Amino acid sequence: MSVSLRSKLVFIMVLLIILLMTVVLVFLTRGVSDFYTDEFYRRMETVFSDRDMMDALREAAGEPDAVDRMRRILDVYAGLLGIDIGTRNYYILDGVTGAFLAGSDSDAARTPAATRNVLKALTGETAFGSGAGRQYMDVAVPVAAADGRTSFVVYIYDNRQTAKNQSAEMFQLILEAVAVGFVISAAISLILSKALLQPIQGMTKAAEAMAGGDFSREIIVESNDEIGTLARTFNMMASQIESTLAELKKAERLRREFVANVSHELRTPLTGIRTYAETLAENSDIPPETASEFLRVILNESDRMANIVRDLLELSRFDAGSMELKSEKFSIERSIRDVCTAIALDARKRGLDMNIEMEEGLPTVRGDRARIEQVFMNILTNAVKYTPPGGRVDITGGGSGDSVRIRISDTGIGIPPEDMPHVFDRFYRVDKARSRESGGTGLGLSIAREIIGRHGGRIDIDSSPGEGTSVTITLPAGGDDGDDGDDGGESDERARH
Ligand code: ADP
Repeated sequence: MSVSLRSKLVFIMVLLIILLMTVVLVFLTRGVSDFYTDEFYRRMETVFSDRDMMDALREAAGEPDAVDRMRRILDVYAGLLGIDIGTRNYYILDGVTGAFLAGSDSDAARTPAATRNVLKALTGETAFGSGAGRQYMDVAVPVAAADGRTSFVVYIYDNRQTAKNQSAEMFQLILEAVAVGFVISAAISLILSKALLQPIQGMTKAAEAMAGGDFSREIIVESNDEIGTLARTFNMMASQIESTLAELKKAERLRREFVANVSHELRTPLTGIRTYAETLAENSDIPPETASEFLRVILNESDRMANIVRDLLELSRFDAGSMELKSEKFSIERSIRDVCTAIALDARKRGLDMNIEMEEGLPTVRGDRARIEQVFMNILTNAVKYTPPGGRVDITGGGSGDSVRIRISDTGIGIPPEDMPHVFDRFYRVDKARSRESGGTGLGLSIAREIIGRHGGRIDIDSSPGEGTSVTITLPAGGDDGDDGDDGGESDERARH
């Protein structure tokens, strides 16, 4: 491709030079020819309107040695007439027959044949007429003696050889210039095309590498022109494609992991259900207490499956962006107190001490109250679940002007630092057996983060193994804008996205 582009460039340059030279040649040749013609007729007009010369010629025409006299006069004016014998000559012709009598070129044989101007002059008229495209220039002036008895024609004839010679020389010069121009333009276009095409060749190589899956090749750009811009854009595009591909690969890997996790999570309770159901079906002599114990396990496992499916459905709604969130103004303090009340019994059963401490005048928030309470419930359930008997769960609330902060701290088992980055991952559980045993799906924190994120807030977790965990939820304060209050389903962009 580059070779062909290069030869195209060279071809264009050479063609341009040839075209240019041809135009110059045509104009110059025409110019030279016109100049000679104009100059000839101007000169003739000046000389032949010279009264002294014309009077002298007329006077000479009446003398017996008229031809000699006239010759002498014309010799005097030869310089002014531009007579050079080779190209331009004067002739004295007989005024009646047009026959050659004398001339600057004394060889009568070389006298030009009677031209239109000569014929005209024989009728007594001065003939300056020039015919376009003629190969010669001529002027014929009749000269008659005063008494009218003798008459002559003074005839100037120029065969244009000088103009032709000049044109030929110019043609030669221009041909040489074309040859030199050809070499120079070929050399310049080769150098130019190399400079121009180098980045394009680089891009071609990079594009080929990209087609083969290698995005690391970067084009080195030094120029700031259009090609430089193109190369830079190309580099940018390559790095963007590379990162998009990496993201896609990561997303694909996560998707596979997720599908594997879902299958695994659903298969475990299913296996349990199947085993117990089979045992019940195949053994009719199972004691009723054992049978009802089996049935309880089956119910528990199917509840767990239902929970997993419910949570998954919820997450997939968040992923699809189809989760509708209500936007209502509500007291965050009241919500957290309600959730605490709901869980207090569980906490007490586990021998945990639960304390709530709220700052005065906590700002209200705007959002989906039920969802936020669902998050609180999940965090509090975790705190209760992962704190051994005798421990504490502290709930504190505070707020700055534009945000509200709820912190739920426990004195439980904590989370090992290596697990911390993953606790928000779907199905991630530090201790699988323990979580499953307590009915956890490993999806609670993922859902919590989605919900808080959609409300424009954030959720942070802090933990030391053996000492406890502290989860902080920060939400934008949004209820104090003079709005009417608990208005239910009014849509709110900020809450939804
Ligand atoms: P699960 O349903 O298993 O509780 P979550 O998504 O709510 O799932 O939590 C993910 C994991 O984070 C839990 O399995 C647990 O290992 C850990 N975790 C969450 N909260 C606490 C806590 N308060 N104390 C100790 N570990 C916790």
